[in-house]
Amino acid sequence: MKRKLFLAALAIGATAASTFAPMAQAQDKGLIGISMPTKSSARWIADGDNMVKVLKERGYKTDLQYADDDIPNQLAQIENMVTKGVKVLVIASIDGTTLSKVLQSAADKGIKVIAYDRLIKGSKNVDYYATFDNFQVGVLQASTIVDKLGLKEGKGPFNIELFGGSPDDNNAFFFYDGAMSVLKPYIDSGKLVVRSKQMGMDKVGTLRWDGAVAQARMDNLLSAFYGKDKVNAVLSPYDGLSIGILSSLKGVGYCTAQQPCPIVSGQDAEVPSVKSILRNEQYSTIFKDTRELAKVTANMVDGVMAGKTPEVNDTKTYNNGVKVVPSYLLKPVAVDKSNWEKILVGSGYYKATQIK
Ligand code: BGC
Repeated sequence: MKRKLFLAALAIGATAASTFAPMAQAQDKGLIGISMPTKSSARWIADGDNMVKVLKERGYKTDLQYADDDIPNQLAQIENMVTKGVKVLVIASIDGTTLSKVLQSAADKGIKVIAYDRLIKGSKNVDYYATFDNFQVGVLQASTIVDKLGLKEGKGPFNIELFGGSPDDNNAFFFYDGAMSVLKPYIDSGKLVVRSKQMGMDKVGTLRWDGAVAQARMDNLLSAFYGKDKVNAVLSPYDGLSIGILSSLKGVGYCTAQQPCPIVSGQDAEVPSVKSILRNEQYSTIFKDTRELAKVTANMVDGVMAGKTPEVNDTKTYNNGVKVVPSYLLKPVAVDKSNWEKILVGSGYYKATQIK
């Protein structure tokens, strides 16, 4: 009872304080539009939730929209945000090249634009970019494969197949190039063999990061190039693709005691993939802490709202075809069976019960 009274007194106190100090009210800082690509992947749901949480804590209102991986949908949602009078747009684009027109109308109204995780291309109206070191993501993906196969110790040759992300997402090229910077020397020396000879983003890209598309391509690769000879590793740039690739492999007898799964990489540390890692199916994933990305992005929002220059740590890498967009790159972390608990549970990103 006493506690209730105390809380009630606190609440009255808070109301009184806010009456006299309207500037301190959360709602005063304005509306921020957050445009996310899809809910079909857990990472984007976490991204949206974290952005809303952090921005609300800092006193903003938010309008969070998911575009169902449909470009006209995303355009309409952003147009709507502009009409509603958002102060800043935070956008993770579906196709990084499709937003120029709506971003011009945003700029005409003085709305600042932050590209979130994915670079927005072909527009001068992109103020900042918050992301991870995307080249390094690819380096880590490939390194987990190289280390596990024992290539550095001279083992091999091994068969590998390569998968890329969506060709309309700038990140996909960075992941692929990063991975190839590690794999190419082994391919050149013959220690890694791509039996299908399918290499390069034009051949290995997976439109819209669609797991079913990756699964179908893996089915084709297996039936055309692997009979008695087995595939030993698969470079996969994203957990959703890895799951599709693994179901294709399981369909033809891999992932059994006689024929273990090949080494399959991934990205995003999504729950089904972490579970798959614990079952010795997927080998690795890359953890990108979306809580940190939300913080960095919120710092950028605060900065542009205050008319200041937000903190960036890269002013060279991300040329969007019109300008180099000042960026903040966070560090990705490779995760496998040996460190998942420390990295994913230890950091509070997941509860152990979500995985086990
Ligand atoms: C993101 C990755 C994600 C992929 C598919 C990329 O732009 O950087 O984290 O795996 O999209 O959603």
